[in-house]
Amino acid sequence: MNPIDPAALDALRTLLGPGGLRSNDVAGTLDPGITPGNLDAGVVAFPASVEQVAAVVRLCAGHGIPMVPQGGRTGLAGGAVSAPGQLVVSTARLDRILDLDPLAGTAVVEAGVTLGRLQEAAAEHGLSVGIDLAARDSATLGGMVSTNAGGIEAFRHGTTRQRVLGLQAVLPSGEVMDDRKRVTKANEGYDIKQLLIGAEGTLGIVTAIVFSLVPLQPGQGTALVACSGAAEAVSLFRRLRNATGPDLLAAEILWPDFARITARGLGLEALVAFAPGDSVYLLVEVAGDSAEQAADHLERHLADAIEAGEAQDAVLAKNAEERRRMWLIREESWEADKAFPHGFWYDVSVPQGALDGYARALFSSAAGLDPAMKVFLFGHLGDGNMHLTVTTGREMPELHEAVDAAVFAGLAECGGSFSAEHGIGLEKRAHLARRGDPAKLALMRTIKQALDPLGIMNPGKVI
Ligand SMILES: Cc1cc2nc3c(=O)[nH]c(=O)nc-3n(C[C@H](O)[C@H](O)[C@H](O)COP(=O)(O)OP(=O)(O)OC[C@H]3O[C@@H](n4cnc5c(N)ncnc54)[C@H](O)[C@@H]3O)c2cc1C
Repeated sequence: MNPIDPAALDALRTLLGPGGLRSNDVAGTLDPGITPGNLDAGVVAFPASVEQVAAVVRLCAGHGIPMVPQGGRTGLAGGAVSAPGQLVVSTARLDRILDLDPLAGTAVVEAGVTLGRLQEAAAEHGLSVGIDLAARDSATLGGMVSTNAGGIEAFRHGTTRQRVLGLQAVLPSGEVMDDRKRVTKANEGYDIKQLLIGAEGTLGIVTAIVFSLVPLQPGQGTALVACSGAAEAVSLFRRLRNATGPDLLAAEILWPDFARITARGLGLEALVAFAPGDSVYLLVEVAGDSAEQAADHLERHLADAIEAGEAQDAVLAKNAEERRRMWLIREESWEADKAFPHGFWYDVSVPQGALDGYARALFSSAAGLDPAMKVFLFGHLGDGNMHLTVTTGREMPELHEAVDAAVFAGLAECGGSFSAEHGIGLEKRAHLARRGDPAKLALMRTIKQALDPLGIMNPGKVI
């Protein structure tokens, strides 16, 4: 694709003012985030208001310039990747928390605010966003809306989609859709904001969001539990989820190879040494009025679970540092990549009842492909969203299709999904084209064509 017409660049520079457009040494001065290709466009616009976003979009529509919206660049599916001739539209300067109403439990934010910043602001009022993920300090709320991010608490509070009351976005025509409702009930025809949520920037640029917040329970109790298998871990999850008292807020499952490889990489082997060799680990966290109440609750219910055969053993975090270390073992998943590079990564959903069988079948078919094949499997047990890398530690392009087939086997039949929470982006387009329901795909294309007839909004992503 040709670079952007210099006259259009000049017009953008004038429109956005000082600091509003970067076109020199973008790659050398900005952090590309997770995917190096995010900054390949080489030109980044930084609008500072919804009016500026709308003016940028109108200008691009007039010159036929494709745009790639970007937030924190933490997306894991390549949705923010750009190419020469395209304009990256960054939300970095849309970074204001416009209103936080503690009584109503709502927050109105611009799209470039990070999750971590809203979490902090909400906590000052005894509130929580109800969503949490490891990239909290870089991921923006606009990016999370656009990928419908899930994360650790989704089983309790829903994915981002369920937390959004209202939305403001600039459509590919340059029109502003302002639907910043602050109420749960607003049946006013088609719920267009839900189309933009999870659209990965292909239907418009999200500029502001109204979130519904949830009460923050300040006291945490955290434990690492050994279970004899995934089915037992699911039973333990049910026990803790249904117990009255402090709420279960996290239930992260780690198969033994994954737990051990991350623990080893972090120098934390001692933390996982309490479990028998083939146990799966469950990292659970409950939250209540105080840390003592939460820890007592957890200890009592874990003792009952051990007696009932749902758990083999458990270690409770004695202090904040121990809790942090337990979370590191779950969140530093790149340690698996460091030890065994060149793996193929996946993000799938499996109904809880089918998880044990799914995991066993996957381990067995991976070993059948190559005895040296490792499957590092972990994820959000509460909603069945599993992350995994399949690897021998060496490059193996010849096995990619066979590994795909092993990972996706049985998912559609059991009601799971090949694409759980990271979106389609660039990386899963072929899978969507192959595995998506044909009628649904046709509708998606019709919607894209209706909203973006020029095809300038994050082209080539999703469909
Ligand atoms: C360590 C780590 C842990 C993670 N854990 C989780 C997890 O638990 N759950 C989960 O769901 N994800 C997780 N992610 C993935 C990632 O954090 C989320 O996808 C997040 O929502 C992306 O936000 P972002 O601001 O970085 O978006 P970006 O990466 O900048 O963009 C992602 C997509 O959204 C589009 N986009 C961004 N902003 C806008 C906007 N304002 N309007 C329209 N489109 C826009 C982009 O075009 C792109 O398609 C994790 C990532 C990392 C690195």
